[in-house]
Amino acid sequence: MTPRWPSLSRRGRTAAGEPGGGDDSSAARPRPAASGPPPVVQLRRVVKSYGLGDAEVHALCGPIDPETGRVPGVDLTVQTGDFVAIMGSSGSGKSTLMNIVGCLDAPTSGRYLLDGIDVGYLDEHQLSLVRNRKIGFVFQSFNLVPRMNAIDQVQLPLAYAGVKPEQRQRRALAALSMVGMLDRADHRPNELSGGQQQRIAVARALVMAPAMLLADEPTGNLDSRSTDELLAIVDRLNASGRTVVLITHEDEVARHAKRVVRLVDGRIVSDVRQTALQGPPPALIDAAGFAEHTLHVPRDDS
Ligand code: ADP
Ligand code: MG
Repeated sequence: MTPRWPSLSRRGRTAAGEPGGGDDSSAARPRPAASGPPPVVQLRRVVKSYGLGDAEVHALCGPIDPETGRVPGVDLTVQTGDFVAIMGSSGSGKSTLMNIVGCLDAPTSGRYLLDGIDVGYLDEHQLSLVRNRKIGFVFQSFNLVPRMNAIDQVQLPLAYAGVKPEQRQRRALAALSMVGMLDRADHRPNELSGGQQQRIAVARALVMAPAMLLADEPTGNLDSRSTDELLAIVDRLNASGRTVVLITHEDEVARHAKRVVRLVDGRIVSDVRQTALQGPPPALIDAAGFAEHTLHVPRDDS
């Protein structure tokens, strides 16, 4: 089927002739990879605007043409196995980007392929299935369910996916083990430190074996030691093949990524590869260059 451009018009508000919309040139079409899996994320000319007329704000826009005012949109591709930090000051468009990449919000115009799926064609129910299976979310505020113990929290995505109870328990315990929290399986959030709560949230994000871990300021509410512990877990997950997209405004956090993308006013102003896509992330290559205690994170499987 030939995509009807713009593919997101059903849920967005793009019309031909509008800035950033109505263009079907070949440059906008994601190219299939020559071989191997499709990129986990392919954003093409993605624009997100709020408000109308004089009140219009472009939260994502790319480099606006100063003469025509044309909004080209943002292109971003994330390959399987990469570890990308998205950086930018407050208001630069990080959360807007996260919401689009996480299929929590639709772009105003442009196209998004998640793990090869054009999400612009999906209805809300299909989108919720894609989110459940493809993306593991981690938020700054942990977003755990109060009064629910850790193993039940981690089983939630499996329950939504219809996984049988006996399998749920086994997979949840495996995920808790990956984050060194097996011994806290029956603890509730109010019985855990912030760092421990975030590790439970990471276990919950991982339990479906998603295509991507998507984290918005995951260390924003953590002290420095818990931050190092959490990042060591993320480093290890990436080293074992998990794709990670992490939003942060902290250089110390971005140092852990293989690639750093910087946003200013809704456009990508730099995109720097710190270490090779194939291979371990920076902290596992240059352990001595990172905080000493990151090397001693508890893990239950060692
Ligand atoms: P960041 O996460 O980098 O701080 P955001 O993506 O939250 O930035 O916001 C980018 C821009 O879009 C800001 O100017 C913000 O005020 C604006 N914005 C974000 N969400 C909305 C909204 N729901 N309505 C209007 N403007 C918004
Ligand atoms: Mg934000």
